[in-house]
Amino acid sequence: MTAVYPGSFDPVTLGHVDIAKRASALFDKVIVGVYATPSKSLLFDAEERISLFAKSLEGLPNVEVRGFEGLVVRFAREAGANVIVRGLRSGSDFEYEFDMAFMNRKLAPDIDLVTFMTSQDYMFLSSSLIKEVAKLGGDITGMVPPHVNEAVQAKFGLPVTENS
Ligand code: ADP
Repeated sequence: MTAVYPGSFDPVTLGHVDIAKRASALFDKVIVGVYATPSKSLLFDAEERISLFAKSLEGLPNVEVRGFEGLVVRFAREAGANVIVRGLRSGSDFEYEFDMAFMNRKLAPDIDLVTFMTSQDYMFLSSSLIKEVAKLGGDITGMVPPHVNEAVQAKFGLPVTENS
């Protein structure tokens, strides 16, 4: 069975990597879908977000990272997937996913949603908080893969810091 894991991933965090890895253990194939044009202000363009996520998953043979535009259900269909994977951190994630799942079910009744509960270590991680902290010179080591840390610091014109 093939699943898609869609998101903005601006940038990918260890929380996202954890969900992708756990999904890869459950499904035959997982296609991470990097949404090219989310209604958020972006730090990284689509190509950068795709390559940062792909590098985070090196060595996982059944996971692939692709960009997409438009509806998630259409992306899933085109990818031959009948499952959408999402991660849940909190009650607010749940409410958002609940609404989205019902909308997606209306659009595509044949595609189901599977949610993974975040791992405790990553429950407070979000891409937006990480960007905020890094921009202010805070240390994001242990929240994102090392190559993502470097890319974030480079965007803000900062040297890579640890424990600042
Ligand atoms: P979107 O803009 O689609 O919400 P995100 O990149 O913010 O994209 O998140 C993609 C998915 O990953 C969402 O299902 C989100 O709930 C989940 N996610 C984000 N951060 C974490 C985390 N720390 N642990 C588990 N799941 C997460």
